[in-house]
Amino acid sequence: MATEHQLRREIVRLGKMLHERGFIAACDGNLSVRLDENRILATPTAMSKGAMRTSDLVIVDMDARKRKGRRAVTSEIGMHLLIYNMRPDVGAIVHAHPTTATGFAAAGIALNQPLVCEVVIGLGQIPLAPYGTPGTRELGGALAGLVPQYDAILMANHGVVTYGVDLQSAYMKMETVEHFARITLTTHLLGQQQPLDCRELEKLVATRSTYSGVNSAAPMPVDSSNGNGASSTDSRPSSTRPTGRPILRQRENAPLRGS
Ligand SMILES: [Zn+2]
Repeated sequence: MATEHQLRREIVRLGKMLHERGFIAACDGNLSVRLDENRILATPTAMSKGAMRTSDLVIVDMDARKRKGRRAVTSEIGMHLLIYNMRPDVGAIVHAHPTTATGFAAAGIALNQPLVCEVVIGLGQIPLAPYGTPGTRELGGALAGLVPQYDAILMANHGVVTYGVDLQSAYMKMETVEHFARITLTTHLLGQQQPLDCRELEKLVATRSTYSGVNSAAPMPVDSSNGNGASSTDSRPSSTRPTGRPILRQRENAPLRGS
C-alpha cells in the first residue's frame, strides 16, 4: 500500500507526463487518488500540471470540503467525486484534453469502433458523453449514465476522463485512448475501416479475463443494440463486408449523443 507521500510524488510525475505528451496545455487537466474511504488527494486549480510540487496538492473529503493544502482544489472535483461514488473499484482518476481524442469529442464522434484488438480487450468502447459545462452538476449528469459501464469517456467539446484501480492504470488508459484516437484518425485518412467482426469480438470477450494488467470492471459491449452504433453487429465475414466506408456514414452512426 503506497504512502500519502508516494502518491503525491506519483501525481506530480504523471502530471509532468501529461504535459510533456501534449495531453494538456496551460492549467488544463486534473488527477486524483483515493487516500481512504473519506479522503481524496487531488491536483490544484490554476496551475500547470507539468510544474507541480508535492506540496501543491490538496486533500478534500467526499463532500469536496478541503482538509489539507494551501491551494484551491481543481474546479472539476465534482466530476471526480461522482466517479468515486459510483465506482467503489476506482482508486484514481485522470482528466486531460489530448489533441486527437479531444478532436473526436469536438467533432461529436465516439471511439466505439472495434478496430484494434488490444483496445477492445482493455477498454471495450470509448463512448461520447453529451456536453456539460465544466465544474457544474450538468457535467456530472452527462457522465452519470456512462460511468458504471466504461473506464474511459470522451466528453463532448471538452476532453477525456479515464479511471482505474490506481494512478498508473488511470494514466495508461488516457495514453491508450489518445493512441487509439490517432489510429482511428489514420483509418479516416485512408478512407476505410475494417472493424473486427462479431466472431472475433466474442473470442476477445472469452480471453479478456486471462490478460494480465486488464483490470477494467467495465463489460465489453459487443452488440450495437445499446444504441452506440458500433458496427460490431456486422457478422458477415470480412471478405464480404463493404470496404471503403465513407467517413460521413460512420459519423452518423457513431455518437452516443441523442441516443
Ligand atoms: Zn477539462
